[in-house]
Amino acid sequence: MNLENIRKLTFVINTIILGLVFGLAGFFYLSGATFLVWFSIPTALVYILGYWLIRKDHLDIYLRLVYFWLTLYMCVTTVCLGYKMGFHLYCLSMIPIIFYSEYMARSLGKKKINAVAVSALIIVCYLGATGYSAYSGPIYEVDSAITMAFWLFNSAIVFYFLIVYARIMLKLVDDSEEKLTNLAHTDRLTGLYNRHFMMTHLEESMSDSKSKFVAMADIDNFKGINDHYGHNAGDYVLKTISSLMKKSAPSCEISRWGGEEFLIFGIDSEAKALALMEDLRKKIEDYDFTFEGEKIAVTITAGIAAYREGLSVDEWINEADEKLYFGKNHGKNRVISKK
Ligand code: GH3
Ligand code: MG
Ligand code: MG
Repeated sequence: MNLENIRKLTFVINTIILGLVFGLAGFFYLSGATFLVWFSIPTALVYILGYWLIRKDHLDIYLRLVYFWLTLYMCVTTVCLGYKMGFHLYCLSMIPIIFYSEYMARSLGKKKINAVAVSALIIVCYLGATGYSAYSGPIYEVDSAITMAFWLFNSAIVFYFLIVYARIMLKLVDDSEEKLTNLAHTDRLTGLYNRHFMMTHLEESMSDSKSKFVAMADIDNFKGINDHYGHNAGDYVLKTISSLMKKSAPSCEISRWGGEEFLIFGIDSEAKALALMEDLRKKIEDYDFTFEGEKIAVTITAGIAAYREGLSVDEWINEADEKLYFGKNHGKNRVISKK
């Protein structure tokens, strides 16, 4: 969520709370709880001030003010009307929201909120207000049917908050786990899988997979491209070749094995492997690589190796490597499946 969305959401929440403050003030008036009617005036002013703070981008001050006032409001209503109305329950939903705010403040680089200290303060207020109310009883007596209605309503809202909060947290965890997994599995420059991921993947799938062929491809004379056109041109070639590979072999797993080496896995017959790699070799040879106005001639050499019972992944890849180097020593720009 970006800052603008947070601001909009805060604006909506502020409006909902302000609406509730007016609604409750009406109820307090009908119940004869005069002190609470008067107390609703500074409360409403706090949320009106809240609009200004949100607009002026003082979300940190807004949050501190709202936490303080909500806690005070809960304490005052609990002392005046008794804990049976369930206003104190909001303390339970405030604690996770404070931790969430601390997380958001940290990830947005804003001033830190000490969630543990604020929670401790809320707990003290909670115990004070409910303890007093349990000991002395409510200051204003309210009809028991209305008390029960409030208890149910407040409980429902608090549970709803807790469920929504838990779902948001779970989504955050899922999203960041997915992001980290992607980062750990892919090569930053090309977006292809990295060597580590490919190695693990091959080890896991070599025994039961139908795909029994790997192809190792290496860009020809790549050092020369870097030396002649510059490192950025080299990166451009790497990225372009990677996307040509992804387009040509959408069902294969393709990894950047080393600097300018690629390992392709996911082909189930030698004929298909050869056809695919030949097609790729030709596409790369014919592709118009142009970087900053300069045309660059690019070719690849590849070796294909079949998996045989008893081979380790290293031995299997070595076979593809040996064929690749056979190709390198026999003119380059070739695909070798048999030496
Ligand atoms: P051959 O045809 O025999 O494969 O020769 P080559 O020049 O392609 O191979 P060599 O191993 O001599 O050079 C590979 C070069 O790849 C050297 C290194 O600087 C370059 N390289 C490795 N990683 C990157 C990268 O991420 N970006 C760029 N631009 N160059 C890279
Ligand atoms: Mg090379
Ligand atoms: Mg190489």
